[in-house]
Amino acid sequence: MRRPTQRETNPFPYSDTNKRYHTFDYYLRKRYGGKCAVIPLDAGFTCPNIDGTKGVGGCIYCSERGSGDFAPSPDLPLLEQYLIQRAKISEKWSCVGFIPYLQAHSNTYAPAPLLAPIYELLGTLPGAVAVHIATRPDCLPPDVTRLLRALSQKIDLTVELGLQTVNDETAKRINRRHTFDEFRAGYDALRSDVPRARICVHLIDGLPGETKSDMLASAETVGRMGADEVKIHLLHVLAGTPLAERYARGEYTPMKMEEYVAAVAEQLTLLPPSCVVGRLTGDGAPDQLIAPAWSRKKLAVIDAIDRLLYEKGWTQGSRLDNP
Ligand code: SF4
Repeated sequence: MRRPTQRETNPFPYSDTNKRYHTFDYYLRKRYGGKCAVIPLDAGFTCPNIDGTKGVGGCIYCSERGSGDFAPSPDLPLLEQYLIQRAKISEKWSCVGFIPYLQAHSNTYAPAPLLAPIYELLGTLPGAVAVHIATRPDCLPPDVTRLLRALSQKIDLTVELGLQTVNDETAKRINRRHTFDEFRAGYDALRSDVPRARICVHLIDGLPGETKSDMLASAETVGRMGADEVKIHLLHVLAGTPLAERYARGEYTPMKMEEYVAAVAEQLTLLPPSCVVGRLTGDGAPDQLIAPAWSRKKLAVIDAIDRLLYEKGWTQGSRLDNP
């Protein structure tokens, strides 16, 4: 008799494959009826942790393009950035919809009159089914959340907030320049002022000085706050960053692959099953990545996480007391 496959025996309810966690792909297929492609855009904003308002130099891992290395140049109009990428993607895949993503720097950090036409454009891009906007939790004043609310009434909106860790001591080490309490205030303001928006929280594993229990605490806290989506990244050492200087001086050791795989698998068990997992690896631009080299093999990392979850009999949320 044939042995049942991992897919057939997968007990996780938010999956129709062997994945034991709630993938973004699954969420998109259920929500929009097929494959959707994310299109990174760069509106040319900056960040209060770079321009001196909160700090200078940025978070120690932040790339020159404010973690928006896969978007076209901000010199191109946003509509053109979108249309060019949509055409390229459409040559390769058949998608039912596209998701413009303002990723680089802090995309709510500008006067509301400047943001308003940009958000309006995002809500009307041809073929777009949803919009994602990444920002800092301390860049959400009421006149900006009003604009986000208006956008969320036209199109599905996800606001992506950078947290990285709940540990304020680590936050100082990475020069994040906001506390967990400030994150919480921004998160709560978004929930109350923009109730239709999904909230996605970014975490980074392998931050300097962090232990696995810090990483687990961050995942569990964000899950218990009710985040709609979580993106888990590996800390990459990218050329030209303060982290690269520390690494060159021998002051920072990146995680080993098996450490990362073990930490992520455990983090997944602490996230509620309904929370979408937007990402399980980082995405360092290949020409800027200094370390760790193993992170270039993203599929091998994802496979190892899947294997560990299967071997342990774990699924997303399986070790939460009240999932
Ligand atoms: S908050 Fe984001 S854009 Fe600003 S410095 Fe940190 S990583 Fe870069």
